[in-house]
Amino acid sequence: MIEVADVFRRFAPDYLAAHGASMLPSHQRAIADILACRTEALGGHLWRCDQCSAERFSYHSCKNRSCPKCHADQTERWLHARRAEMLPSRYFHVTVTVPEELREVLRANQRDGYAILMKAAAEAIIELARDPRHVGGTVGVLAVLHTWTQQLAFHPHVHCLVTGGGVSEDGSLWHPARNDFIVPVKALAKLVRGKLRAAFAARRPDLVLPEAAWSKPWVVHCTAWGEGQQAVLDYLARYVFRVAITNARIVGLDDQAVTIRHKHRKSNRWRTSRIPGHEFMRRFLQHVLPKGLHKVRYFGLWHPARREQAARARLLLQLDRPATAR
Ligand SMILES: [Zn+2]
Ligand SMILES: [Zn+2]
Repeated sequence: MIEVADVFRRFAPDYLAAHGASMLPSHQRAIADILACRTEALGGHLWRCDQCSAERFSYHSCKNRSCPKCHADQTERWLHARRAEMLPSRYFHVTVTVPEELREVLRANQRDGYAILMKAAAEAIIELARDPRHVGGTVGVLAVLHTWTQQLAFHPHVHCLVTGGGVSEDGSLWHPARNDFIVPVKALAKLVRGKLRAAFAARRPDLVLPEAAWSKPWVVHCTAWGEGQQAVLDYLARYVFRVAITNARIVGLDDQAVTIRHKHRKSNRWRTSRIPGHEFMRRFLQHVLPKGLHKVRYFGLWHPARREQAARARLLLQLDRPATAR
């Protein structure tokens, strides 16, 4: 199997020679880590089985979260503790995409921009769901930031897993959402846009945002997303334990270029594209997040400050279920 590390081994020396001086430290770090991951550069461990004395040597991992070999491991460990807090409810999946006009502002201001985007998306969902015409309670939102398309273009968007119901203000009642509806998407798109604009004005008054971003409708999708723990696990696997590209999607490598496969949206078929080596590196690196930035965040009922309410909601939901469904 060809790995991102193999691509870097071939093209990184030249790429660094050409662009190294102007590159972000986080990007240089990602290259160095991915190159060293599970090689002798990081050393290793000799494992011996107590029973049969068989020995196996394994190299250490780089633990960089942009590394396709390390990312899933790390995220999984981090989220493991949170699984117990997930609710046995139905779920919805909401995706919010930033219009093209705002992409460069986000690229240049990732730390503030990504935080504002995730918060605006989650708070808009929570605010609309509180309306008694929709849910009438506080829903939980697990938001995850993606910055890519299948071909690694820069395309920031947020995936939100939303509980299909919410707790009343005093925490004593669970209000379930309807089967196939949680909030109206057009109203949601407008509200996200307004919240994002206000948040940028408050937090970064120095930035001039293009007017065109506020006059066009934003792209928001909402679908029903399964039920219970399995729904949460599916969501985590599909959206949270992800980096821009998996090694499995790299299908060719030669002296000039990398060939990757990607799913064509309209036909839903796999296609391949050949990307020149340096262009692949540039595209890959634009998805390396600033150090310490949380790409997974909890809001509403899942906000850490509401843990008690979430625990009560879980109890309400369990009591609510018919005995056979337990
Ligand atoms: Zn690694
Ligand atoms: Zn995505």
